[in-house]
Amino acid sequence: MQRDKTARPAESGASAGPDRLPAVSRLLAARQVAALVRRYGHELVRDLLRERLSELRQAIRSGQLGGRDVDRAVGAAAIASEVAGRAEALLGPAPREVINATGVIVHTNLGRAVLSDAAAERVAAAARTYVDLEYDLSRGQRGSRLDHLAPAMARLFPGKSFVALNNNAAAILLVLRTLARGRDVLVSRGELVEIGGSFRVPDILAVSGARLREVGTTNRTRLQDYEGALSDRTGLLLKVHTSNFRIVGFTEETSIEDLAGLARRSGVPLVVDWGSGDLVDLRPLSIKDELPVGELLRAGADLVTFSCDKLLGGPQAGLVVGREDLVVRLRRDPLARVCRLDRLLVAGLRETLGAYVRGAAFREVPTLRMLAAAPEEIGRRAARVRREVARRSGQGRRLAIVDGVSRTGGGSSPTGERPTRLLAVDPPEGDAAALERRLRAGDPPVIGRIQDGRLLLDLRTVLPAQQDRLTERLVEALGPSGPVKR
Ligand SMILES: *Cc1c(COP(=O)(O)O)cnc(C)c1O
Repeated sequence: MQRDKTARPAESGASAGPDRLPAVSRLLAARQVAALVRRYGHELVRDLLRERLSELRQAIRSGQLGGRDVDRAVGAAAIASEVAGRAEALLGPAPREVINATGVIVHTNLGRAVLSDAAAERVAAAARTYVDLEYDLSRGQRGSRLDHLAPAMARLFPGKSFVALNNNAAAILLVLRTLARGRDVLVSRGELVEIGGSFRVPDILAVSGARLREVGTTNRTRLQDYEGALSDRTGLLLKVHTSNFRIVGFTEETSIEDLAGLARRSGVPLVVDWGSGDLVDLRPLSIKDELPVGELLRAGADLVTFSCDKLLGGPQAGLVVGREDLVVRLRRDPLARVCRLDRLLVAGLRETLGAYVRGAAFREVPTLRMLAAAPEEIGRRAARVRREVARRSGQGRRLAIVDGVSRTGGGSSPTGERPTRLLAVDPPEGDAAALERRLRAGDPPVIGRIQDGRLLLDLRTVLPAQQDRLTERLVEALGPSGPVKR
């Protein structure tokens, strides 16, 4: 095929045929492309150039691309920029940092808990070297990865044993499989819930090989209902935290104490899936549904399972805590091996648990810091952003501070709404969706929510280290020069 020797597009309006496409070899020599080659390697850039040229050829032939558009599209700069975007999508870092201005603290889609700096450093350090993950240094023998968590767990749950898995769903599956395979599991109808992130209690039960035996009605389940369903086929009693879901009105739930009494009398274990692992009492923050795990154990639960990346504020993991004889069986099950923690999780979880042991969790664990932040403090931070954006963009009239609510989220307490102060942005041209898109498209993306035609930003979930960049992004999105391409 004949090619334009100069690789420069012809004058617009002239022939707009595919023959005006530059050659790959010429493009590779172009300054913009050479930079890409240094970064992404010769072969990948060459392949991406070929793919782009083939698309352009197709578009020109089919008449999709014509006239002046051809001139623009076939220039080295345009092609290099397109290829750079594709190489970045392929090889750029991901998942990317985002600014969570939704006010949802445990946001499953945004990665749930943010680790403390100390925990993040432990994770990075454990990633870079060999570590004594399963090696007992004092005896020179094989050890257990769970030994690194044992001292903190013994302080947090005296007299109890534990096993750690890579999430709470795995923890529940392990418990059901080991203790109740082929047997009945009694669950209240009101607790057969689906929890954010597609966790369904009946599905996990089915996979475990245990049989679901529904007890009571959706809104009321009494102790007698459990008693009536008990038989010599019963493997365990399961109580599930209904998390993001709440039946209000005429309801009745059987207490842990009553269930524990029944479990003891009938010789079957009582297992509680508590969803969010609460290691501190959150009731002083008016979060009423989140009893501390220790309290459930004291009330007679034989095992409690929970996530480590919800309100606990650690890395993704699941813990089962409780009776030693049951935990021994869990640890021996092959599924415990299948779902074991890797060394990064062990390191991050140990450091997070350490903050609780030292009584420093509310100071150090970001999730708890966010949860405990007072509306006045959040309002002051919002006001600082507002002042700065107003000064730099001249758009102060678009910005206001208003009352609102943040949510704990992530399948934690449904009543866990926290009063907050929001930065409300009146969008240019009344187009809140466009403003939301612009903020989401930048670097780092800002995720907010739209309500009544305004964009609402909640500083509760914006990390202090991100606040200046939030300001920048708002200036950029509202500023007189309009959006700046990244
Ligand atoms: C979140 C949740 C789960 C699932 O935990 P993962 O750690 O996401 O696997 C299970 N049960 C309850 C009650 C939950 O809230």
